[in-house]
Amino acid sequence: MPELPEVETVRRGLLKIAKGRKINAIDVYYGKTIDGDVEEFRQALIGQTITDVNRRGKYLLFRFSNNLTMISHLRMEGKYFNQKQGKPIDKHTHVVFKFTDGTELCYHDTRKFGRMRLVKTGTEMSVAGLKTIGPEPTDQDFTVEYFRKILKRSRGKIKPFLLNQRHVAGLGNIYADEVLWMSKINPEQPANSLSDEQIRLLHDNIIKEIAVATKYKGTTVHSFTNAFGDAGGFQERLHAYGRGGEKCERCGTKMVKIKVAERGTTFCPHCQPLVEG
Ligand SMILES: [Zn+2]
Repeated sequence: MPELPEVETVRRGLLKIAKGRKINAIDVYYGKTIDGDVEEFRQALIGQTITDVNRRGKYLLFRFSNNLTMISHLRMEGKYFNQKQGKPIDKHTHVVFKFTDGTELCYHDTRKFGRMRLVKTGTEMSVAGLKTIGPEPTDQDFTVEYFRKILKRSRGKIKPFLLNQRHVAGLGNIYADEVLWMSKINPEQPANSLSDEQIRLLHDNIIKEIAVATKYKGTTVHSFTNAFGDAGGFQERLHAYGRGGEKCERCGTKMVKIKVAERGTTFCPHCQPLVEG
């Protein structure tokens, strides 16, 4: 599933291939991609221009000239690409926005979990998912004080705590494993048992890791590519995710892959010991 760095990379690509373009037709091949009535969706957007593309957490927010916003969540495998009109599309392309300049923006999703929803601009934060979303992982929005407070209230393990978008926006399985390895915290450590030093370190690593991964255009796993179809470069810089059975870069111990809250989780048993509280 694309996480914040990948979705931000998609957003930056969309600014180049979709911003400022006017829609003159929309083809919907898989109606469930659209939350709500497909015909209303088409009629509301035909003739409109995409004025901007914003992002909150893993949600893309397409802004239209008629004061509507399309909330798009890529879920597992969703991606956007553009091409000239008239080129063939495959069976995994579910929505095509045709522009007046002869290009088209295609939404492709092999798993079909991605969704688009149209709302009035300004009301998007009252929609399920966005309504409860936590702060962006940046110095401005995500403070150590806030992080400490929500950690102390938690009764769960730290890994699922980090995956919960209500706590902090944008982390998924890859970056949760990475920031825990960087901070030498066991993924099964109870969230409310972290020391003040661990809290500060984890907080700083979350902000740093997301920023660096975004700089490298995210991580390419499975079928994820950015809006131009090229691959992110961050997978070369992963320390934990996908490295089960390999030697820890820090200490040489064999990395272990386990399941934590149903999610594959890789960590170093030596660097990231479970500390009895
Ligand atoms: Zn280690």
